[in-house]
Amino acid sequence: MAVKKRPDEFFDDLETMSPQAREKYQNEKLAEAVSCACRHAPAVKELFDRAGLSPAQIQTVKDLPKLPITRKTDVIEQQKANPPYGGFCAIPQEDIDRVFISPGPVYEPVQHEGIQWFARAFWAAGFRKGDVVVNTFTYHLSPAGILFHEAIRDCGATAVPTGTGNTDIQVQTIHHLKATGFVGTPSFLMTVLKRAEEMGYNPRKDLCLKRAWFTGEMLAPSLRDTLEKGYKIDTYQAYAVTECGGALAYECHRKSGMHFMDEYFIEIVDPETGSQLGPGEVGEIVVTPLHNRNWGLVRFGTGDLSLYTAEPCPCGRTAHRLTGILGRAGDAVKVRGMFVVARQVEQVCLSFSPVARFQVVVTRHEQRDEMNLRVELKQELSNEGKKKLTEELGQKLQNICRIKPDGIDFVSAGTIAEEQPKIIDQRTWE
Ligand SMILES: [Zn+2]
Repeated sequence: MAVKKRPDEFFDDLETMSPQAREKYQNEKLAEAVSCACRHAPAVKELFDRAGLSPAQIQTVKDLPKLPITRKTDVIEQQKANPPYGGFCAIPQEDIDRVFISPGPVYEPVQHEGIQWFARAFWAAGFRKGDVVVNTFTYHLSPAGILFHEAIRDCGATAVPTGTGNTDIQVQTIHHLKATGFVGTPSFLMTVLKRAEEMGYNPRKDLCLKRAWFTGEMLAPSLRDTLEKGYKIDTYQAYAVTECGGALAYECHRKSGMHFMDEYFIEIVDPETGSQLGPGEVGEIVVTPLHNRNWGLVRFGTGDLSLYTAEPCPCGRTAHRLTGILGRAGDAVKVRGMFVVARQVEQVCLSFSPVARFQVVVTRHEQRDEMNLRVELKQELSNEGKKKLTEELGQKLQNICRIKPDGIDFVSAGTIAEEQPKIIDQRTWE
């Protein structure tokens, strides 16, 4: 089936590469990035030495699991021991254009050279020349403000560096400049809109906001609905990691997952073994920047749990998509080899209207993990209704979470308290 493209759909040709072309592109970039980091960043050289590897042994993205995962805590410790960059800086001090500081602190040296690719994330959200966009991310310390500002400009739009806070000034600016775009977190946009209403504006009539680009916070489906249907603001989200300097995955207008940015290699890995997982499997997001020549990060463990799909997207972009950020690595419970995360089970359970609350109970019986689901209903169902719900819920859990519950118990209202954990692990290992 031919893909129907909007005339100005894509920011560049990389977004529509064939899988073979992408693999070739990423393998080449990876080999270059690894050899450059090994030559110029002592911390990376040490990492290879400890693993008993030479850069030549990392020729393709499939070779990455030979290397250990570097975590934020490792970077912090190494920077403390060997200040300021902990051996991760791959360029001479005098060539550093700016230094970003993310919580930790982590000092990230940046040489500003053609990092235009972030613009893809904004282009996909529809930002174009003629748009006036308030960028409400901070311009201090962390990369968000400046990098997103430049990406908005790379799309041809006008960027207004409003930064964080100052809600009244945000409202005033959006009104006076007839701003058409908002960049920030979803909750802050909501705060701004509520404040606009308190100040006597009707956001739908008095403001010109038509699209918003979010990162840094999960966009709840209910909030998306309010913004899109209630305020008529088209919303897009992206996944960004400060230590990797920006947006790693972004939504297109189909809004069914976030396309991987080709300048990074994104692995979803088993957080315990570091091995690469396939589509639909829940694991930790591990990132290797492929274009960054100043900051030698290889296999950076984000600690975020997610999963991806390799299904083609009707928008025409060919990169795989992250289909949700499900929590932090510590939130996952491994049941029969599959990671189960509360947020994913919740998405499935609450898609069935009779379900009020749920709880997963994991036990171990005769050397086998058992997963049972306790479900509270909004109102009593007939036995026939419960049987149907049990079948459908079990099947959907199997499809989405890749694990079928061993049983579903319907418990009476009030049994599962709000503050109780959504997953209880009762296994003992004797
Ligand atoms: Zn798409």
